[in-house]
Amino acid sequence: MEQRKRHGGNSGLGYYTSWEKGKGNGCIYCGNPATTREHVPSKAFLIEPFPENLSTIPACFECNNGFSADENYVSCFLDVLKSFIYADYSCNESTKQRLLKDEKLKQLIDEQIKLVGKEVHFSYDEKRLLRILEKLAVGHAGFEFDKVDFDRCVSISYDFIFNLSDEQISNFNIIPIHDTIVDISSRVGNTPCIIQNIETGEAYFFNAWNEVQENQYRYQVYQNNQGGVSVKIVIYELLYCCADFM
Ligand SMILES: [Zn+2]
Repeated sequence: MEQRKRHGGNSGLGYYTSWEKGKGNGCIYCGNPATTREHVPSKAFLIEPFPENLSTIPACFECNNGFSADENYVSCFLDVLKSFIYADYSCNESTKQRLLKDEKLKQLIDEQIKLVGKEVHFSYDEKRLLRILEKLAVGHAGFEFDKVDFDRCVSISYDFIFNLSDEQISNFNIIPIHDTIVDISSRVGNTPCIIQNIETGEAYFFNAWNEVQENQYRYQVYQNNQGGVSVKIVIYELLYCCADFM
C-alpha cells in the first residue's frame, strides 16, 4: 500500500509541525525512515472536537498504521469499562460508533466486561494494552526530549483508579521537581514553570501535566532520578500508567 501524497510531498513533512529535530532520527518507534507524522496521543483516545495543535512525531508508514487495531481495542475497552464502573457515565460517541462498525470488537469486549450481580467482572488482553502503553510513552518521550535511548530498558506499570488508594493517586499526581535546569534542547525546557522559595531564593523547575483533553487524556514527561526519562499517562481518568526509560 502506498502512502497517499501529502501536501508538500515527502520532503515537506515539516509542513505538519514546527518540530524539525526528528527529521534525521527516523521513525520514533523503529528507526526506519520516517515518512509520516503521527499524533501523540493518537486520536483514538480523544473525542471530537479534537484539541488544536496536537503534537506529532515522525513515524514510518508501518508503525503509524500498525498500532491502530490495538489502539482501537484499548480505547474502546477502557471507555466501556468506565461506563460499567460509573453509573452516571456512558461511553462517548466515538466509542459507540466504533463498536457499531466492528462487530468482532464489540463481541470481544462484551465477553471481557460483565456485570455479575452488582459487581463488574472484567478481563483484558494485557499484551495489547502494554504494547499501546509503551507506544504512547515512547511517543511522548520522543516528542518532549530530542534524545531518548530507545534501545531501552523500559518498565511499565499501570493500574486502574479503583485499585488505587487516595494516597497512591496523590503521589502519582505530584509533579516531580527538577533541581537542575532542564537541557535546553528538550521541549520540557521550553515551557518550564518555576517555583521560587521566597525565603532562600532557591528556584525549582517543573513541568506541568499536559492536559490534552479534560477527562480523556493527560500526561507528563520528566527526567527521573536514574538519569532516564519517565512518562506518566492517565487515560480517561481510569487508567494510571508510568513508563520508565533507563
Ligand atoms: Zn516505524
